[in-house]
Amino acid sequence: MLGAIEAGGTKFVCAVSDDDLNIIEKVSFSTTDPEDTLQRIFDFFDGYEDLKSIGIGSFGPIDVNKNSIKYGYITSTPKQKWIDFDFLGMMKKHYNIPIGWTTDVNAACLGEYELGSAKENNSCIYLTIGTGIGGGAIVNGKFIEGFGHPEMGHILIKPDPKDNFEGVCPYHGNCLEGLAAGPSIEKRYGTKAQNLSSDHKIWGIVAYYLAQALVNYTLVLRPEKIILGGGVMNQPHMLDLVKEEFERLLSNYVEIPNIGAYIVTPSLENDAGVTGGLILAQQSL
Ligand code: ADP
Ligand code: ZN
Repeated sequence: MLGAIEAGGTKFVCAVSDDDLNIIEKVSFSTTDPEDTLQRIFDFFDGYEDLKSIGIGSFGPIDVNKNSIKYGYITSTPKQKWIDFDFLGMMKKHYNIPIGWTTDVNAACLGEYELGSAKENNSCIYLTIGTGIGGGAIVNGKFIEGFGHPEMGHILIKPDPKDNFEGVCPYHGNCLEGLAAGPSIEKRYGTKAQNLSSDHKIWGIVAYYLAQALVNYTLVLRPEKIILGGGVMNQPHMLDLVKEEFERLLSNYVEIPNIGAYIVTPSLENDAGVTGGLILAQQSL
């Protein structure tokens, strides 16, 4: 039996599966403080005595550098109570089994790479556009990381002349996340993004920002596929708008796969993260 934790800033999802990754049980609860959240994790997994390993995909930033003394920690998160929380260490204290550790978006990327939209590919990027923006990338089965994990949401992009918004990122103001994640839309108009009509001008602006980001990722990594998840992608036409802007900005400079197969949504939908966590658990054995 395998276990997975999708640790999000808003909610946690825990799941167990059989050895063939068929999910047997899955629970979800709100992210509160670390002690209470950890207790809920223990309450769930303690019920499964034949658990062989667990894979964790966590919100962050997190430390994924095995040579670092803070390996396994959540580090500089805006969630005060979680700053410098030794998540992996606390899990290892309670469970004497292998535990895989990566970012939430890397886990979703792994799920899509092995069993979802990118299962026929050797490389892909997974980007979520929700409360924040984050991305992970896999090339030949390995996460792209070095000193740390990628922070694809905080790249610097050109503001749209039609948009004089200063951005909401506490670090950079108008980085990609500061201009295009859900809270930036809410801050501009004083209502949740999903309450705006589908012909509102903001969708073209957000698509322009996302397309710039995808052009940059394409030029740096040349992946075979880019998968876009997260709440903002629930906006009807967002995928088409992004594809149109992307083609305009790339301007045929480099060859890419057919655009319809290149920029897609996650075929595992909401299970990409937990599925990736289960695969990570399997790999950690
Ligand atoms: P999280 O990032 O916390 O895991 P989500 O991926 O669900 O959660 O993203 C939540 C964000 O997505 C919120 O800012 C919300 O306003 C926005 N959102 C949800 N539905 C839509 C929609 N249909 N159109 C645009 N934005 C949406
Ligand atoms: Zn930023």
